[in-house]
Amino acid sequence: MSLAEFALIDRIRARSKGRDDVVLGIGDDAALLQPLAGHWLAVTADTLNSGVHFPPETLPADIGWKTLAVNLSDLAAMGATPSWGTLALSLPEASAAWIDAFADGFFALADAHDWRLIGGDTTRGPLSLSVTAFGQVPHGQALRRDGAQVGDDIWVSGTLGDAAGALQLWQRGEMDVTCGAGDADREYLRQRLLRPTPRVDLGMALRGVATAAVDVSDGLLADLGHIARRSGVSAMLAEENVPVSRELRSVRGSADALLHAVEGGDDYELCFTSNPSMRAHIQSLSNRTGLRLSRIGYIRKGEGVHCGGKDLQGGYQHFT
Ligand code: ADP
Ligand code: MG
Repeated sequence: MSLAEFALIDRIRARSKGRDDVVLGIGDDAALLQPLAGHWLAVTADTLNSGVHFPPETLPADIGWKTLAVNLSDLAAMGATPSWGTLALSLPEASAAWIDAFADGFFALADAHDWRLIGGDTTRGPLSLSVTAFGQVPHGQALRRDGAQVGDDIWVSGTLGDAAGALQLWQRGEMDVTCGAGDADREYLRQRLLRPTPRVDLGMALRGVATAAVDVSDGLLADLGHIARRSGVSAMLAEENVPVSRELRSVRGSADALLHAVEGGDDYELCFTSNPSMRAHIQSLSNRTGLRLSRIGYIRKGEGVHCGGKDLQGGYQHFT
């Protein structure tokens, strides 16, 4: 490794804080961690490649935020408390300014969740960022995809389709991801694409409440389909209850907004199932946190994701 790359690692290390359960952090051949007694480790990895997972011109601070956000979202979907993780960086050039800006976004989110960077790898190559994130969850309390029961409600947090709406504006040349969008509705969508909020507190609050959970990264149909398949059940979706933001509806119109909400990815909301006896509890959770939680359907026997009489396996568009 060249000196420049060591200098980059030093800049990253300068930004990472300590934590009591980090016995040894960045700087040795491996980190040493002290997991909590009575807990399972939840482990996940996600990679973002320039031009594939974000527009190439995306600002480094936004890339930093999203690199961690997609991983914390996976921990949230397991009901885990974020703890630590590693960062593998592939960079076309060793730029201190780029690393500092990247770190601004990355550590803003890391510090907000008391998540600690404890190591990684830095190489030269096409721009690519990969995090392996560890979280902790009490024995037996993880939220898995395979626990949905016949008769359960299906819920989703926040609103869906905002990120897909923003991405489509960018693809059409109608949105610049590097600066404020001018009008408030488009700016809201831009932020939803670039700065997704991992629903970490919700995931932890759903321990013992949800029977199954998944984060919406590939789109509601696809991700709810994962719960249905892994649980051996069928999901019935009430499309009129799928939450769509006022901003998305005003920029894209109601019909396209719903399409984005059902098929579009990158929102990082949580979709979960729970017994109908939990409705009042979930409503009070929503009231307490100010996070919208919408009941969008129910689980029944069978397979696949359905909407009215339609089988949505082949995609939503073909059926409207
Ligand atoms: P090794 O040669 O043993 O793989 P490196 O020289 O690659 O070690 O890394 C030195 C230290 O810096 C290690 O503790 C490693 O975990 C850490 N490190 C390297 N790259 C990063 C990075 N992008 N983010 C955080 N820590 C890093
Ligand atoms: Mg080594």
